[in-house]
Amino acid sequence: SKWTREAIFEDAKAKNVHFIRLAFSDVNGILKNVEIPVSQLDKALDNEMAFDGSSIDGFVRIEEADMKLYPDLDTWTVFPWGSDDKKIAILICDIYTTDGEPFAGDPRGNLKRMVEKLDDFGFSSFNLGPEPEFFLFKIGEDGNATTRVNDVGGYFDVAPVDLGENCRREIVLVLEDLGFEVEASHHEVAIGQHEIDFKYANVVDACDKIQLFKLIVKTIARKYDLHATFMPKPIYGINGSGMHCNMSLFKGDENVFYDANTDNQLSETAMQFIAGVLEHAKAITAVANPIVNSYKRLVSGYEAPVNIAWSTRNRSPLIRIPAARGKSTRVELRSVDPAANPYLALAAILGAGLKGIENEMVAPAPIDRNVYKMTADELANGGIDKLPNSLSRALDELELDEVVQESLGAHITANFLSSKRIEFQEYLHQVTDWELNTYLEQY
Ligand code: ADP
Ligand code: GLU
Ligand code: MG
Ligand code: MG
Repeated sequence: SKWTREAIFEDAKAKNVHFIRLAFSDVNGILKNVEIPVSQLDKALDNEMAFDGSSIDGFVRIEEADMKLYPDLDTWTVFPWGSDDKKIAILICDIYTTDGEPFAGDPRGNLKRMVEKLDDFGFSSFNLGPEPEFFLFKIGEDGNATTRVNDVGGYFDVAPVDLGENCRREIVLVLEDLGFEVEASHHEVAIGQHEIDFKYANVVDACDKIQLFKLIVKTIARKYDLHATFMPKPIYGINGSGMHCNMSLFKGDENVFYDANTDNQLSETAMQFIAGVLEHAKAITAVANPIVNSYKRLVSGYEAPVNIAWSTRNRSPLIRIPAARGKSTRVELRSVDPAANPYLALAAILGAGLKGIENEMVAPAPIDRNVYKMTADELANGGIDKLPNSLSRALDELELDEVVQESLGAHITANFLSSKRIEFQEYLHQVTDWELNTYLEQY
């Protein structure tokens, strides 16, 4: 491991760290934290910091409320802000019960449980390289976020069109300062939309980085009087924001998705992984696209997937295999959006992929044409099914899929299903602007 207890104390002293955020994620993927002064660091590293789990979404009922935070030393990160003599650091924590057992409702702990299964297959790591997209919106006179963009740029545009550029650059600098290896940063297709990619890492580390990434992006955006949002489809009629997940399995230093001797240079293991993910794609959608708004993005024509298919070329299907081979051989799942709790989404995807390998599943033939342009008959004849088109349908699929349920664990599955059913019901009862605009005067 990277950090020892002693090294953390030394670093805290050297950098004048005064506050430490002990952080974890709730079932919705929202980062929560309790902040302690450095005088309490000893106690925190002894795993003695307790909190009320009944006040966290998806955790426990009031009768079994006490939970403990077990900081993961390797997540020690000092933020560049705060005054020079009182810096702020963060430690991401696992959640344990007061009996010293890992808490089954902890999304990060659950992902770790899934990662342990790699051993049974002889794999050493499951890697994730995420491509989070987001919008930068102006903040209104009242201090609240608007949906007014601050530029009219498009894909790869440069300043002065791209006014978000300085903001994005500062985000990149801070990320680098925090130890991210940023690979690319660019304006995305939609006005006001951006993407920053950082280097893949083992899945738990990468998910921690996603959580930190969102915090950094939002914090820096505020400095520029902008609101950064990871909402999947903030504006009707233009591209939404995805968070493509590039994934690979390694055995030591070797990428087991690569095989120089097959037609497409993908190994049998890669094909089985793809088969497993496609088989469970509908239930995975519940956690990869977990909010009502996610389904406004998963529509035809905006580079987001609708059909359950894979391709080595084009960007319309659910899974794309980027051209790179060798160590960079990877499976890109394009459905995931940045509202997903990354720990839950990746646990579900990993569970499905490993099931494909375990059962030696056979992937369907790749579709190397634009699936948006295929007719309903062509899709049916090709056996190409669709992703669920609403949160409610995705939840129905999760209720039927034992493999994905097992990947989330019973506690998380039950809490997720019940809170998401309530969310969907609430939405169903709303009278929307669209309805008023369409019906108010007509009827
Ligand atoms: P796109 O072609 O979709 O724009 P990008 O080049 O933006 O893709 O994204 C590349 C992502 O894939 C980066 O996060 C990168 O680190 C990641 N990646 C590269 N090699 C691997 C690998 N072997 N396993 C997982 N992710 C990888
Ligand atoms: N913004 C698109 C989406 O919703 C993806 C664009 C891209 O290919 O990067 O998934
Ligand atoms: Mg993109
Ligand atoms: Mg991509």
